[in-house]
Amino acid sequence: MVTCYIGIGSNLGERRFNLQMAIKELKKMFATRVTGISSLIETAPVGGPAGQGMYLNGVVEIETEMSPYQLLKELQRIESFLGRVRTVQDAPRVIDLDILLYGDYCINEEALCIPHPRMFERDFVLVPLKEIAPRVLEKLLKERPVEIKKVKTPVKIRKKAKKKEKKQRPQLKKRGKKK
Ligand code: ADP
Ligand code: MG
Repeated sequence: MVTCYIGIGSNLGERRFNLQMAIKELKKMFATRVTGISSLIETAPVGGPAGQGMYLNGVVEIETEMSPYQLLKELQRIESFLGRVRTVQDAPRVIDLDILLYGDYCINEEALCIPHPRMFERDFVLVPLKEIAPRVLEKLLKERPVEIKKVKTPVKIRKKAKKKEKKQRPQLKKRGKKK
């Protein structure tokens, strides 16, 4: 089992619902357990076409037996399943699922780069990561003092953090109701 952090984001349609659906799908993934879910935060889009809507972002902690590429493929399958259509770079999206960290692995390929190459400059990644995995962030700050310049509070915190799921909790047990 490897502990991984998945960045989740949406700035199109029912953003909160899209993220909830994505989390539901993450829970169904093969040989994987969701072990932490951050608060959702609202931030302005970075790059992409002008006039696009605000993002809702969060970070999910999982434990998985999947390989990094298997995991990437699964995340892309979930993105398509939830209606993501790829157009231009940084375009508005119903759902974006990125592998931020996969244990301590470093992978440097175009199709898969881990740690995610832009995570260190993104507060909408670092703030939720700090919330659910403060020690992981602390370690990153020590390892990458130049890349990580600041971790500041985002525009809005939209949802209180959920407690980490108990390790032995059965994966299919229902939790978190729609508001
Ligand atoms: P972005 O998330 O960077 O805005 P996309 O979601 O459209 O853009 O992903 C573009 C490509 O990035 C994907 O086809 C995928 O192969 C690649 N990629 C590289 N590293 C990662 C990673 N750590 N997590 C997710 N996708 C990645
Ligand atoms: Mg992506």
